[in-house]
Amino acid sequence: MHELSIVSGIVESILDFVAKHQIRKVLDVRLTVGELTHLEAEQLRFCYTAMIEQTAIQGSTLEVEAVRAEVNCPHCSYQGPPKYWEEALAMAPVPTLQCPQCGKATEAIQGHECAIKSIKYVT
Ligand SMILES: [Zn+2]
Repeated sequence: MHELSIVSGIVESILDFVAKHQIRKVLDVRLTVGELTHLEAEQLRFCYTAMIEQTAIQGSTLEVEAVRAEVNCPHCSYQGPPKYWEEALAMAPVPTLQCPQCGKATEAIQGHECAIKSIKYVT
């Protein structure tokens, strides 16, 4: 599972942070996750809860903030959300890296991120 390795890295850096700053209790952790990562918020939260058991940050919650994809087209200089692939079987429209204007390949300027935005804690 992709989510598992991502969350394990996140948990590791939070534990590091907690140890360095002598934090008593972590309340919640906010993540920003770009939609091009295809990470599922539910899965991330599930992995997080399972992984923090028996650690210094047990009991904290993970908040996932979705970041919409944004692309830049080198062919027609379009900038904005990419073309979405409407798949009948998919739960939600899937972002592609196709330009909605000219149909050529674009470069993502936003949507690949997966980072800790903030950590709420008590010292
Ligand atoms: Zn274009």
